[in-house]
Amino acid sequence: MILDGKQISQTIRAEIREEVQILKAKGLRAPKLAVVIVGNNPASETYVANKIKACEEVGIASERIALEADISEEQLLDEVKRLNNDPSVDGFIVQLPLPEHISETTIMSAIDYRKDVDGLTPENVGRTVQGLPSLVSATPRGIRELLARYDIRTEGKHVVVIGRSNIVGKPIAMLLMQRPYLSLPGMSAASLGDATVTVCHSKTRDLAAICRTADIIIVAAGSPKLLTADMVKEGVVVIDVGINRVEDDSPRGYHLVGDVDFENVAPKASFITPVPGGVGPMTIVSLLQNTLQAFSQTLKS
Ligand code: NAD
Repeated sequence: MILDGKQISQTIRAEIREEVQILKAKGLRAPKLAVVIVGNNPASETYVANKIKACEEVGIASERIALEADISEEQLLDEVKRLNNDPSVDGFIVQLPLPEHISETTIMSAIDYRKDVDGLTPENVGRTVQGLPSLVSATPRGIRELLARYDIRTEGKHVVVIGRSNIVGKPIAMLLMQRPYLSLPGMSAASLGDATVTVCHSKTRDLAAICRTADIIIVAAGSPKLLTADMVKEGVVVIDVGINRVEDDSPRGYHLVGDVDFENVAPKASFITPVPGGVGPMTIVSLLQNTLQAFSQTLKS
């Protein structure tokens, strides 16, 4: 069965739109997301445009803050501090990658974790690890939500995560191994967590043998057709996070594929995400959910 991230994300967008309308009906302002983009990386421009559009569709206010590529680290830090202190902004993100002369770690660490809707500050990551209320980074949050919406339970299951990045591999492994007390506002957490998680990476020996013991495989490696049919057991659940460009003769010159040999793995899988239309749409919707969550926290304080 296909895990239809596109359809689920539309359902969630409708839910968010309704929540925002309720807030407005109560006389409250709309939640607001600010997106900082430095320089003019074409991929970043597309991602930022999609995020702003998604906000507009659900009634979340947004602001695009474009800064020159040669801005100094100090100046960007000043902008981060300004946004931290701007009460009209509930959450903001600094689109990565940043130009080489700016330290991403320094910038991420300066963001107020209560406004860190990308969930990348050390504070938010630490809070997630400890099971404290936190803003979870968008892709892991989206994966967790997708599993929950299809009522795929993880308790006692062996989950193999391929990839150990800070934005996908590590946080999803952490979320799924946790006791399920870390519930995110607006999502059913009851069946998630409590998994036995194995994290694999580029130095892992005999990846295939490890994958064959998995009930659920989450692949975030950035390597087309890394996961093949001989590496999975019958009935496995496969979540393909990868987004890879493969050149072709189409007018665009390429098409997108994941990290899974979808055609051959799908017949053995009980559930599988397609690329595109699986994890990708869930990632954007998670950013909207995080913005709403950040807004609610503002109301409480
Ligand atoms: P990354 O590119 O930072 O790192 C890749 C990881 O995969 C590394 O930890 C590496 O050790 C591991 N790896 C690479 N080749 C491997 C192999 N042959 N065997 C085992 N492990 C291997 O990771 P990332 O930033 O998490 O991105 C991974 C993929 O997910 C990319 O294709 C990226 O475009 C995609 N991505 C998609 C979304 C989405 O919303 N769908 C979000 C983030 C990333």
